[in-house]
Amino acid sequence: MNPCPRYEKALILYSYQEIGRRKSVFLQRHLSECERCRSYLNGLEEVARIISRQYQPQLHLDIEDL
Ligand SMILES: [Zn+2]
Repeated sequence: MNPCPRYEKALILYSYQEIGRRKSVFLQRHLSECERCRSYLNGLEEVARIISRQYQPQLHLDIEDL
């Protein structure tokens, strides 16, 4: 499901915790009343979990190489 266009970038930053506190409060207020952006954010968080799982073995190898 696509988010509201004006919130898309903020949602991506929010999923990486790269968003300022004031903006995140603003965004959370929108999320509480917008089903579309909520489901988009759920999708982003799912992708972030998959990526962090894939990168963990790589990080482990880097540590062993030191
Ligand atoms: Zn929205």
